[in-house]
Amino acid sequence: MKREVIKAKNHEIVEYWFSRIDECGLSVDAAEAHERCWRCGCKRTLERCHIVPASLGGSDDPSNLVLLCHRCHLDSPNVADPEIMWDWIRAYGTSFYDTFWTIQGMKEYEFIYNRSLEEEFKARNIEDINEFNKIIKEEMQKTTYHFGDPHLNIATIAGVIRMALKRYEEM
Ligand SMILES: [Zn+2]
Repeated sequence: MKREVIKAKNHEIVEYWFSRIDECGLSVDAAEAHERCWRCGCKRTLERCHIVPASLGGSDDPSNLVLLCHRCHLDSPNVADPEIMWDWIRAYGTSFYDTFWTIQGMKEYEFIYNRSLEEEFKARNIEDINEFNKIIKEEMQKTTYHFGDPHLNIATIAGVIRMALKRYEEM
């Protein structure tokens, strides 16, 4: 049997949640919650994501939906306890728009190379951040996207940081 289309509109989901929750500490505020992903805060096409999945008995009401970009939708928890979704969204809250994926890329770098970017800068005496950012921008030109997701994923961002550090050492 084919699933029925979700009837709740994006603005109804925004109105439901942002009249109830404390938006402090989230990656979006009420004014932009209709156009920015509630987890990463980026301006993207938004998908309606079930808090409790339909297959676990979750409804299509605004009270059981949040708005996420495609990538965050894929990453989101699929569990029967509705609190988990909000725990997850809040844990990733960032204070500034459009910094989320860069921050995740820096964490990914630390995970792969066991060193924070700050430690890498110290080890190489990198003080001129503008110069380093110029190299980052150039290395960005040598990346590409996975089909269907026209954004740099965190492994790519971590790779760009690594490539830029290597180039900096050669200078
Ligand atoms: Zn997102």
